[in-house]
Amino acid sequence: MFKGKDTAIPVVETIKDRCRRCYSCIRNCPAKAIRIERGQAMVIQERCIGCGRCVRVCAQKAKKIESGVERTEQFLQSGEPVYAILAPSFPAAYPEAKAEQIVAAVAAAGFSRVFSVAVGADLVARAFRELYQKQSYATLITTSCPAVVSYIEKHQPSLLLFTAPIVSPMIATGRLLRSMYSFTGPIVFIGPCIAKKKEKSDPKVSGVIDEVLTFHELNQLLDMKRIAIAEQGERELDQPWPQLGSIFPVSGGLLRSTELAHDLLSNEVIVAEGPERVLEVLRHVEQGTVEARILDLLFCQGCIDGPAMNSGLSVYLRKDIVANYCRRWLDKKKTAPALEAVDMTRRFTREAHYLPLPSEEDIAKIFLQIDKHNPSDELNCGACGYSSCREKAIAVYQGRAEVEMCLPFLIERLEKMNREVLDAQERLIHAARLTSMGEVAAGVAHEINNPVAGVLTYVKLMKKKVQEQLPEPTLSGILRYLEIMETEMRRVSEIVKELLDFARPTDPDVTRISVTELMKKSLFLLSHQFELQNIHITETYPEPDEFIQADLKQMQQVLLNILINAAQAMPKGGALFVRSRQRGVDQVEIEIQDTGEGIPQEHLGKIFDPFFTTKLEKKGTGLGLSVVYSIVVKHHGTIHVQSQVSVGTTFTLRLPRAVP
Ligand code: ADP
Repeated sequence: MFKGKDTAIPVVETIKDRCRRCYSCIRNCPAKAIRIERGQAMVIQERCIGCGRCVRVCAQKAKKIESGVERTEQFLQSGEPVYAILAPSFPAAYPEAKAEQIVAAVAAAGFSRVFSVAVGADLVARAFRELYQKQSYATLITTSCPAVVSYIEKHQPSLLLFTAPIVSPMIATGRLLRSMYSFTGPIVFIGPCIAKKKEKSDPKVSGVIDEVLTFHELNQLLDMKRIAIAEQGERELDQPWPQLGSIFPVSGGLLRSTELAHDLLSNEVIVAEGPERVLEVLRHVEQGTVEARILDLLFCQGCIDGPAMNSGLSVYLRKDIVANYCRRWLDKKKTAPALEAVDMTRRFTREAHYLPLPSEEDIAKIFLQIDKHNPSDELNCGACGYSSCREKAIAVYQGRAEVEMCLPFLIERLEKMNREVLDAQERLIHAARLTSMGEVAAGVAHEINNPVAGVLTYVKLMKKKVQEQLPEPTLSGILRYLEIMETEMRRVSEIVKELLDFARPTDPDVTRISVTELMKKSLFLLSHQFELQNIHITETYPEPDEFIQADLKQMQQVLLNILINAAQAMPKGGALFVRSRQRGVDQVEIEIQDTGEGIPQEHLGKIFDPFFTTKLEKKGTGLGLSVVYSIVVKHHGTIHVQSQVSVGTTFTLRLPRAVP
């Protein structure tokens, strides 16, 4: 074979920036050779059969094929003779030009001779007829479509037994020319097929064809050389000339050129085109349910439908053009090359690239990850590129697809996230409203504080006066009213104080505090209440004592608020556990655990909100824990709560540890 720089890129490749994730290539890949990588559809080279369907269906032109232009140009520039062999579909690729003008244009590009692959097709047809007539095959799969051959080798190698060991027309033409003309220079195939690019380097048939140009690439070459087909004169193809082989590229063309009779009533022959039908027939062959002796299988509707065909004409018009051209050849007088002069045989190799198959359990696990729990959740919408959810799950199992690549699942998840964002937004608005409420309340509290203090003073004065001046029983009646007024006023004053604490906690006056002392003092202040309520206390303190950096008064306020809440949660008695310990190097942890009524889940997120209270009867203000929270945060600490209804509640404080 002519030596030259070999192209390094695989036959079909994805241009990542162009892939728009429509996954139509996945849907159209008969070899399951497309894998999803970060959402983009990439070609798995080991599985790719080079049929070019992914290239054809990609509207974004994100699949690129290996170009033969550069290497062909190198051949042409080398000064050596270069042969071009034209696929028999070439007249349909340039319907506006005469076939002879196309031949002339190719010659003008620098090719020393221009032949038709129909010559090789004639040889293939004869070799095939001989093989068929030997009757040694029950079923014979034809091999003119390199994509089908590659498919069988890679994906159903058990069927190689049924595959005719005869080369394709391209290889037959190449071998013929090399033996007929003892030609050792480069031979370039020009046609509509992408799979030929793979075929030319297949070690079983290589060494014959040096480069493959698609019709699109021929256009590029002609453009580079400023050659317009329409401006060319007419040039006849070089000899040998074809016979019926020119009809090869149309649907059923092989059988026509073998001149083996077949009609619709005979089930000797099956012509199947398109991946769905081809794969179906192959399945039947594997299962032994095919009666036909000849299977002509093509991934396109004849080669005139090849992925790199030039014209926008329908397949039917293309067929007319090729048929007309074929008729013209039939009228010409010519002698066919001897079949014996050419080695028409080929070998096959098993290149099986099997992927593991998942069990039902594996599929169920994959479905679970995308919230598919029942058969009715399997929508089979096809948006992922697979025709069913099951097929997609298999692809996930085989590492070809990403599990989350499921549109209904993603939409559902987006909606959920949306709901969460809206929720968080609502909570923020709520918190902001509460904050401004707190600020307003603080202002109002400040205004209320003085008059309330005044009223309390006057109530005390009045109590004194009436005690001095009024006789019984009038005195007792009035004293009772005044005492109620005093209690209520004190409550007002208490709320006002808490409000001010919440809205404007003063900066902590930080000192080194013994945690054990702090907790013992706080418990002592409430010891009477705990005793009355029959609450049993268990204290656990570290040895030696731990110290925190904190404002003593504020910390006491924190602990008292939590302890009072604990006591209120255990009206019928219970147990209180108070613990402290060192946490890490620089924190001290304080835990206050009660066995009270607990906090319902839906309240847990709200208990630190100002004014949130469930103690309407006990006239709670809902400010205690908000004050606790703001003091703890000011101390660079954290507070967490864990609670279970009817079991109890644990508050955990973490505060900066004072270095001993
Ligand atoms: P208040 O005690 O005035 O209601 P807080 O801010 O101190 O206000 O507490 C808010 C709410 O948190 C309480 O009304 C109560 O529902 C809940 N809560 C706090 N601590 C406990 C606890 N130890 N057990 C059960 N519920 C609690």
